[in-house]
Amino acid sequence: MNVHDSERLSGLLEDAGYVAVPEGTTADVVVFNTCAVRENADNKLYGNLGHLAPAKTDNPDMQIAVGGCLAQKDRGEIVRRAPWVDVVFGTHNIGSLPALLERARHNRRAEVEILESLEVFPSTLPARRDSAHSGWVSISVGCNNTCTFCIVPSLRGRERDRRPGDVLAEVRALVAEGVLEVTLLGQNVNSYGVEFGDRLAFGKLLRACGDVDGLERVRFTSPHPKDFTDDVIAAMAETPNVCHQLHMPLQSGSDRLLREMRRSYRSARYLSIIEKVRAAMPDAAITTDIIVGFPGETEEDFQATLDVVRESRFSGAFTFQYSKRPGTPAATMPGQLPKQVVQERYDRLVTLQNDIAWQLNKEQVGRTVEVVAATGEGRKDADTHRMSGRARDNRLVHFAPGAADVRPGDVVETVITYAAPHHLVADGEPLSHRRTRAGDNHEAGLRPKTGGVGLGLPSFGAPPPTPAAEGCAVT
Ligand code: SF4
Repeated sequence: MNVHDSERLSGLLEDAGYVAVPEGTTADVVVFNTCAVRENADNKLYGNLGHLAPAKTDNPDMQIAVGGCLAQKDRGEIVRRAPWVDVVFGTHNIGSLPALLERARHNRRAEVEILESLEVFPSTLPARRDSAHSGWVSISVGCNNTCTFCIVPSLRGRERDRRPGDVLAEVRALVAEGVLEVTLLGQNVNSYGVEFGDRLAFGKLLRACGDVDGLERVRFTSPHPKDFTDDVIAAMAETPNVCHQLHMPLQSGSDRLLREMRRSYRSARYLSIIEKVRAAMPDAAITTDIIVGFPGETEEDFQATLDVVRESRFSGAFTFQYSKRPGTPAATMPGQLPKQVVQERYDRLVTLQNDIAWQLNKEQVGRTVEVVAATGEGRKDADTHRMSGRARDNRLVHFAPGAADVRPGDVVETVITYAAPHHLVADGEPLSHRRTRAGDNHEAGLRPKTGGVGLGLPSFGAPPPTPAAEGCAVT
């Protein structure tokens, strides 16, 4: 979600005449898009702001802006703690950034603007996309759940759903620019439609994506076990371009802890969804998020998590050690666990999960996979002379391009020769290499730019009007 917001901030600033500078160059404007979900987000922000203070002293015309979840939470506190910050904007008004920079420059004082609810759906804003071959498409923002460890509902507000026609218009606009993979984004994609009264809207949306010519891969994140319905599984299985991949947060395998977390499904329901997904798509790769050491977690609770992990056979898991997020109910719950207890359980979970992932990855050896080449996926590619990308099930594959002139965005078919717990290797000559428009665009240094799709009409490339400086709520 935040990564896509950063694409929007880039698009907005570009439309306002700003130009990105190469990494390592001193910029005239620095924007921090913060995420309060991340551990130590506030320490990192104030540390980074501290590092920038001397640059601001050297160049008083430099502007520093802070947005995102942490800005929504800390508001004016940011300029109190770092008075050299020029602009603070929240999650509901990222479109105001260019106007706020302008106003701060003109008035020579910090501008803090936080709105309590969305004025416009963020997808109506321009976005400069990071990738030539894959794109994020928001289907909803906000969340109606109240998980006790999560700060999102208080910072992003209640769920707002985008009309299916608007979503599909943006998908088509991206595909028209050569994008071959989209990821539908929402805090809880399974409740999509709650705002316009259609409980089956998400499955229908997946099927509608299947009708978009040229769209080769559809992914989504994140589903919620509470709202997951069978029609979504059927849509995944029956729509050829929807990838057989599911990232479904578990958080805990203990029903008692799920209750404490205010996550209103139980482990049996979670496992039954997995069973149905595997029955419909035996090749599905299922991944998850798990929190270890939630307040009050007993060894018995933890064992229940290990049991669900064993039974689910995840191909990967993002595992987190619980840490307090100020402002969440769990932060003040009794039974906060000592670090060494959490660490020891965490290590056991990671060992188990790595074993399972490795076994599953070994089953891939000898199989032919289709990989979309990408950038930034393989740190050692330069040394190993490999390229990296994602298979249809989202597994990371490092592959030898052989004699083929493979560009990021191109599609290869190759045979897996080696498996590690977190990646696959394909060291033979690719069986096929397909040059794509995404590859052409990458080679030419072109990235898609969406001009905002708000009313069901693609306005690709057309900059929206500059947000007005007047009429903004200033707190
Ligand atoms: S479902 Fe829970 S964890 Fe996810 S965004 Fe909503 S409140 Fe947070």
